[in-house]
Amino acid sequence: MPAFTWPFDPLGATRGVERVEQARTYAVWAVWSVDAACYLCDLDNDVFNKVRPLGDFPPDTVDLAHARWAAGTAMTAIDLCGAAIGCLHFTAREKAYDIEELTRPNNRSTLQCGGCREWLEEVGSDDYYQDLLKNVRDRLTHRALGRHLFVTNVPDPDL
Ligand SMILES: [Zn+2]
Repeated sequence: MPAFTWPFDPLGATRGVERVEQARTYAVWAVWSVDAACYLCDLDNDVFNKVRPLGDFPPDTVDLAHARWAAGTAMTAIDLCGAAIGCLHFTAREKAYDIEELTRPNNRSTLQCGGCREWLEEVGSDDYYQDLLKNVRDRLTHRALGRHLFVTNVPDPDL
């Protein structure tokens, strides 16, 4: 029996399936990141509405921990969406695509998928995203956060 002549590259088609599965994994993690952010919001409300005790932790420590958690989780969700888009629509590579490189105009303009291109354009021009990136995430992870300091000589009866 002669070797079967495939009308297409079967291994190439398999790689396509792997990429779709990888994109799905990124998307599922993005969904779970958003769920985690919603849980954090409830936790933060409980702590600062005194439904849940702070324990031995100073309120500023808990506040900073929640802010870092929220900023990191929000960026993770957005980056995972970018990784899924990169997996589906850009050249295969080992390192996942991140949202900063995909939102660059020369990258997103080459994207053939209209829905993904529009989403990247919206993210790249979104004021909240720019604020999250530059004024929250970077400050919380790369440098000291500017803080407002309130000083009083009257102790807070709730602390
Ligand atoms: Zn797409």
